[in-house]
Amino acid sequence: MKPRPVFAAPGVRFVDTHTHSTYSHDGKSSLAEMRAAMSARGVDFAVTDHFDTELAWDGDRFSPILRAAEEAERLNRTPGAHIYHGVEIGEAIWNDTAADRILSLCRHDVVIGSIHSVRYPGWMQPFSLIDFRNFPAEKLDGYLSQYFTDLAETAETADYDILAHLTVPYRYLIGKFGLAVSPERFLPEISAILDTVIRRGKALEVNTSCLGSAYDVLMPDERILRLYREKGGRRLTIGSDAHLAENAAHAFESAKNVLLSIGFSELTYYENRRPIAYPIA
Ligand SMILES: [Zn+2]
Ligand SMILES: [Zn+2]
Repeated sequence: MKPRPVFAAPGVRFVDTHTHSTYSHDGKSSLAEMRAAMSARGVDFAVTDHFDTELAWDGDRFSPILRAAEEAERLNRTPGAHIYHGVEIGEAIWNDTAADRILSLCRHDVVIGSIHSVRYPGWMQPFSLIDFRNFPAEKLDGYLSQYFTDLAETAETADYDILAHLTVPYRYLIGKFGLAVSPERFLPEISAILDTVIRRGKALEVNTSCLGSAYDVLMPDERILRLYREKGGRRLTIGSDAHLAENAAHAFESAKNVLLSIGFSELTYYENRRPIAYPIA
């Protein structure tokens, strides 16, 4: 299917603030391919390749981020979607030295803070690699509790602009393994994380990567987005988390409709790590 342009508002371009290229270990499309797809959709974007601190010295994880930034600036000299460049720092709280070093490596437009691995004894590999079907209920609860503890610490102490894909383990627990996870269970922890994001003036990400999948919701879901707004949270970014060009700006129109129904009227992107708001109505 030929990609259709999507707009935030008449004459206003979306900025997809969370994407990956082959500078990420799991990226499937080159930055040039991603840009061509974004250009076809009329969307500007940030390339935010992975830097998980626990892998910082497992091979060279620094150079790819620098090369992505350099290529973005090179591509920006030719017509097409504008590319902002940054990094998605996973597990910043595991290794301050690595996080500081990637932050000072080059100029970043945007820094994403996220958790892909949890400090749960014996299960510290990325949750995308864990078979949760063998976890008894109590262990699953302990694991999730540790995810929210780690994310709360990240939200509070890390240097980032956007807190990404809040509740992402649900994608695996619910979407991949069909496990029953009560959406109420960690609401107090989630609420406290939202408070931190608001108090520190950070942005919450609306991650669209699960829309249309077995876990067919925004991350975080509508109820949490509503809570964020009720608490006074206004700074929101939209990210497809695309690892493949065909997922560029995935489901932005339906996400926008949800945001409008909650009462949000703006989205934010970052340039030189400064937030810039734009209308979605
Ligand atoms: Zn991520
Ligand atoms: Zn990502």
